[in-house]
Amino acid sequence: PSFDEHGRASHWIGTLTDIHEQKAGTEELRAASRRKDEFLAMLAHELRNPLAPISNAAQLLTMAGSNEARVRQSSDVIIRQVRHMTALVDDLLDVSRVTRGLVTLEREPVDIDTVVAGAIEQARPLIEARGHRFVLKQEAPGVRILGDRTRLVQVLSNLLNNAAKYTPQGGSIALNVARRGAGVAITVRDDGIGIAPGMLPHVFDLFSQAERTPDRSQGGLGLGLALVKSLVQLHGGRVEAHSAGLGRGSSFGVVFDLLDTPAPARAAHSDAG
Ligand code: ADP
Repeated sequence: PSFDEHGRASHWIGTLTDIHEQKAGTEELRAASRRKDEFLAMLAHELRNPLAPISNAAQLLTMAGSNEARVRQSSDVIIRQVRHMTALVDDLLDVSRVTRGLVTLEREPVDIDTVVAGAIEQARPLIEARGHRFVLKQEAPGVRILGDRTRLVQVLSNLLNNAAKYTPQGGSIALNVARRGAGVAITVRDDGIGIAPGMLPHVFDLFSQAERTPDRSQGGLGLGLALVKSLVQLHGGRVEAHSAGLGRGSSFGVVFDLLDTPAPARAAHSDAG
């Protein structure tokens, strides 16, 4: 209370605290902080893992003398592991640039066919190494969008690599390009391990990989899909993820506006469909 010159309470000053809101906020902060701690632990692990094989291979090289097979084998190990670490660090740098708003797109009219071809070329080694069957279904040939070619290839190859990674050997992967209203939808479908319904809404979140993938057998930091989402949004597009559940495959899609005004007949057909 505040008193006047007669000692009477003239007004009151009070503070209202919404305990519920405050509690929810603290919980959220705690969860975010825990996710970051887990992420750091995973990061340390992922960066540490390749060092032992690199070090062993380097030691073998010093002892290899003129044994050509051993030199080749050790060099292969080093090259593969360094490539893996480079990709990891590149993803980290990319995520940090995107979240700080430092990524700018080099936009130009881009032919979706060439983007798809580029992504397939990048993902082919993993798809083949895992013995998957791959099908391309092109229902909208020749469409163009305004975008950054390199980033678009990165987006699609990320989805294709994930499909290859999270599908047991000898599975099926399909990439589908189709008109969707006034836009184009590019979808990567697999018959792999699938995604639990509870995890689906968080699959594009940064730092929640540990919660999404409890077994961690595939390694990875959970940066790829967060990057995909940011890059697609920078293009004014949107991302989608579907899965009927664990063990029932997944499908990841990206949708962009088309650069060229659709021809009336085709647009009418797409709208109807
Ligand atoms: P990473 O593959 O490095 O973990 P991503 O961000 O690319 O990171 O993927 C995040 C998580 O989403 C994966 O750990 C996995 O649990 C899940 N995921 C992504 N793609 C697929 C897929 N095609 N099938 C099943 N799960 C997937």
